Amino acid sequence: MTDVIGIDHIYITVTDLQRSESFYDRVLKDTLGFRKNTFVLGSDAHIQYFNRHFGYVLRPSRSSQAHDPYSPGLHHFCFRVDSIADVVSVANRLRASGIEASEAAHFPDYAPDYWATFFNDPDGVRLEVTNYRQERRDRHDNWNTLGQAAAGNGESMEPTVPAPGRQPILVSACLLGEPVRYNGTGMRCDDAILRRWLDEGRVVPFCPEVAGGLPVPRLSAEISTGAGGAKVLAGEHRVRATDGQDFTPQFVAGAHLALAEAQRRNIRVAILKEGSPSCGSGQIYDGTFSGQRIPGSGVTAALLRSAGIAVFSEEQLADASALLMRLEAEIAD
Ligand code: SF4
Repeated sequence: MTDVIGIDHIYITVTDLQRSESFYDRVLKDTLGFRKNTFVLGSDAHIQYFNRHFGYVLRPSRSSQAHDPYSPGLHHFCFRVDSIADVVSVANRLRASGIEASEAAHFPDYAPDYWATFFNDPDGVRLEVTNYRQERRDRHDNWNTLGQAAAGNGESMEPTVPAPGRQPILVSACLLGEPVRYNGTGMRCDDAILRRWLDEGRVVPFCPEVAGGLPVPRLSAEISTGAGGAKVLAGEHRVRATDGQDFTPQFVAGAHLALAEAQRRNIRVAILKEGSPSCGSGQIYDGTFSGQRIPGSGVTAALLRSAGIAVFSEEQLADASALLMRLEAEIAD
């Protein structure tokens, strides 16, 4: 079977080449890093924007009719960038350059980590910029092992069914020693209960902040005014880094990805790192970066709880173990 390995080029017809050049210079050249050349085909001037992956070519139209996305033909064109942070940055840059792009926003109905900004070109061609979300990465990386089901928009992979009677447990990756914390370290929990769960093969490691698109290392962050994860999810408070950067999009996306992973695996219990603005389940920092903890939960902990998942900290493993035994007894009945 011949494999199509990419889009080579796309041609867009425009009614006013100069007007469109000014628009696409700002979008493709100044914001998305494309390069530009020009050429003549027939007697028509063409402008090509290109990056290492494909070309986006403007050519003069032969009618002045506005583009109708609901007539046969192109509905919209979507550019993919690497991360949610990139979507946010692109939306901000477009808006600063005078283009009426929507604010970068999260669309969990499309996929748990779907972020996008939308805008139109001068002829009404709809454009979108979205992030390289996990389902697309999995589709690319695991193509040969995925079945036909892996073709949908976001959540088409078959859920993992846990072994009968054995509950899987979502665990903060840093508690397993994975170096995913803001400072590039892990925070291994060496408790015998966690070691047993690892031996039983039921631990599902997850770091919401990394899954949400933040790098390692990264600046530490706190929920402003220590409001708690539920207020962040409601859009009422933000997660800020020490330099004031807004990490809210990545924290919210990471929380939704954690929930999607838990639901995909039918997970009912999570062990999350106490104190974290994502994972804290009983305490978080107060938003002043002074080391002061207050009662409250992080963004991921709040979302998991709202979905009915029991969230414990690494200091409550005995309680979590007792709940697991009850759940497994119910299953066995
Ligand atoms: S987000 Fe959670 S799993 Fe990731 S480093 Fe922070 S506490 Fe650990």
